[in-house]
Amino acid sequence: MKRIGVVVCLLCLVGTPLAARQQKTAKAQAKPLQIFFVDVEGGAATLIVTPAGESLLVDCGWPRDDARDARRIQAAASLAGIKQIDHMLVTHYHTDHWGGLGELAKRIPIRKFYDHGRAAELAEDKKWFPQLNQTYSQATKNQTHALRPGDEIHLERAPGSPRLFLEVLTSNGEALKHSGPDNPLCAKAQLQKDDPTDNARSVGFALTFGRFRFLDLGDVTWNVEHKLVCPVNGAGPITLYQVGHHGMNISNSPALLASIKPQVAVMNNGPKKGGHPDVVKWLHEVPSVEDIYQLHRNIAAKDEENAPAGFLANLGGEEECQGNWVKVVVAPDGSSYTVTNGRTGQAKTYAVKQ
Ligand SMILES: [Zn+2]
Repeated sequence: MKRIGVVVCLLCLVGTPLAARQQKTAKAQAKPLQIFFVDVEGGAATLIVTPAGESLLVDCGWPRDDARDARRIQAAASLAGIKQIDHMLVTHYHTDHWGGLGELAKRIPIRKFYDHGRAAELAEDKKWFPQLNQTYSQATKNQTHALRPGDEIHLERAPGSPRLFLEVLTSNGEALKHSGPDNPLCAKAQLQKDDPTDNARSVGFALTFGRFRFLDLGDVTWNVEHKLVCPVNGAGPITLYQVGHHGMNISNSPALLASIKPQVAVMNNGPKKGGHPDVVKWLHEVPSVEDIYQLHRNIAAKDEENAPAGFLANLGGEEECQGNWVKVVVAPDGSSYTVTNGRTGQAKTYAVKQ
């Protein structure tokens, strides 16, 4: 009996420090989730790098002869330490979302492409449609995945990291249907005239990392937002919200904002595009919202209609634009995140509340 006791005890002594060591190593290796809001001056380019080092780029800025937006995305990729884009999601076919693709594909390998399905025509942008088809076919080699609500873009989970899950919430004008109790906020929600443009067909998704949840709905407009949160809330709650449609007031309905209850909002507006004072006001009216960051000061709006200066990444008009980003780094356990203003270097940390 005595001998067995000694053997068991020896196993304990040997086993415990080894398990502790392994746990420590996993913790030391655990990496954060990074999200870069690249400034493409009123377009969209959001670069997500997971703790496993996998990358997802959501939209890629405007078509430009000087490849400005592709260069800015490349600079963010290099800051994030990645050498390729594993997943490229084009939310919809307006130039401020796909335009940088040709130049970007020349600069960095892009592996997989996702969209809401190839468009046969684009009534609101006949001028750019042939260029879109050519650039898109060339970059994607016509190999794209058409996403539908409920689809997942599979992202690897790093050892010791919390659950990482990207779910498509909107696509091609449809929204994910949930079962559950009715959302009481729908009773007072107003609808707008249906939007026939490609904005309404944007792919929107929620990325969950532990308790942290990030929502990006592209340029989805009012009535599709309504489909997403009414009669049952199929989106919330959300930690970090990429303000829809560059902060325009034909998106970001008060019913959506109150349903998702974001803690921090980041708006990818330009100096003269988006950043509508209505949206800033509606965001302030949601009690959960602690801070709003803007990629640009809306130069046509008053100071009080913009976020405070410390939360603005670029202050002036296009000619003086530095292209400063806003970066979000989520702690390896998903319990907190730090938002940095690329202009000032000012960083603020938030505990995830949901
Ligand atoms: Zn847009």
